[in-house]
Amino acid sequence: MEASFDPDSPFDPDDNADPAPIMVLLVDDQAIIGEAIRRALAQDPDIHFQYCQHGEQAIAMATDVAPTVILQDLVMPGTDGLALVREYRTQPATRDVPIIVMSTKEEAAIKSAAFAAGANDYLVKLPDTVELIARIRYHSRSYRNLMQRNQVYRALRASQQKLLEINRELERMTNLDGMTGLANRRYFDECMATEWKRGQRAQSPLSLLMIDVDDFKSYNDTYGHVAGDEALRSVARALRSCCARPQDVAARFGGEEFVAVLPSTSSGGARLLAEKFRRTVEQLAIAHSRSSSGPVLTASIGCSTTVPQLDKAFTWQIERADQALYAAKHGGKNRVGIAD
Ligand code: GH3
Ligand code: MG
Ligand code: MG
Repeated sequence: MEASFDPDSPFDPDDNADPAPIMVLLVDDQAIIGEAIRRALAQDPDIHFQYCQHGEQAIAMATDVAPTVILQDLVMPGTDGLALVREYRTQPATRDVPIIVMSTKEEAAIKSAAFAAGANDYLVKLPDTVELIARIRYHSRSYRNLMQRNQVYRALRASQQKLLEINRELERMTNLDGMTGLANRRYFDECMATEWKRGQRAQSPLSLLMIDVDDFKSYNDTYGHVAGDEALRSVARALRSCCARPQDVAARFGGEEFVAVLPSTSSGGARLLAEKFRRTVEQLAIAHSRSSSGPVLTASIGCSTTVPQLDKAFTWQIERADQALYAAKHGGKNRVGIAD
């Protein structure tokens, strides 16, 4: 297989060849030093050179030319070289750029002050060309490696973040009913188990609505399954709009049956909500010529409220809501049945 090179990739396939150019920024007030360093570096075509004569322009120029190494003079008129070194370290563009301090003095105290200020290296002016170039290459390479590593970390962090988002989306999707966009049966079971436990602990009422669309078999037979699906989506939207509290969960129980879990909701509140939903479905005014409860599509609702008991499972409440639904169907459909 032929290796391909992605210019956006942080990985350099030819790393040992050291192909990236080196950018040296010399900050020194003496033009003669500038000229000497320029001449010393001129023989190496991959070493680019920029010269800054005025200390007060150094930060702006460093930000502009993006050096891989800075040669910094210590004594400049009107500028403290050490203060400048400290300043490079506070600026995002120059924070990690290697700094070689150049001084005429070979004094331990000055050297240690330079390193304390954030310098990476120290040379006495004028340095030997071979040594200067070796140090420039060494520091530039380590700077580029650092930048590369940072880029890899950033890419890694970005892909981790992406993975996290995909996982979240996946989790969301496994809890959703594909056709209606409501929670699915799996999520409903989970939610019921959680709310049942919470209700047991808090001794607070938990309400459940069990909903079944009336005469839906004949609706499908009359209008077809595509229209049937669309009607179910409309009913689902109506249910979602009625379950207004953040902790309410509307779910598709299966087929043309829906449920609403209403935590901390009294029987009166649940009854009101059930009636509101019943009316909303009726007012959708979806024509159903063979409906036994009117000329439009309707739904029957079983409503159950209980303070979850320790000796019962949550399925007990589902059974009670089911019985109330059964009563609503037998009472003539398009109505709310209440579990006793
Ligand atoms: P009842 O008033 O007693 O509830 O009668 P019903 O006809 O609604 O009840 P039944 O259980 O006899 O029929 C339910 C119908 O719902 C049968 C089935 O084809 C239809 N159904 C279930 N799921 C879907 C679906 O996803 N899309 C469509 N279009 N129809 C569905
Ligand atoms: Mg049914
Ligand atoms: Mg039905």
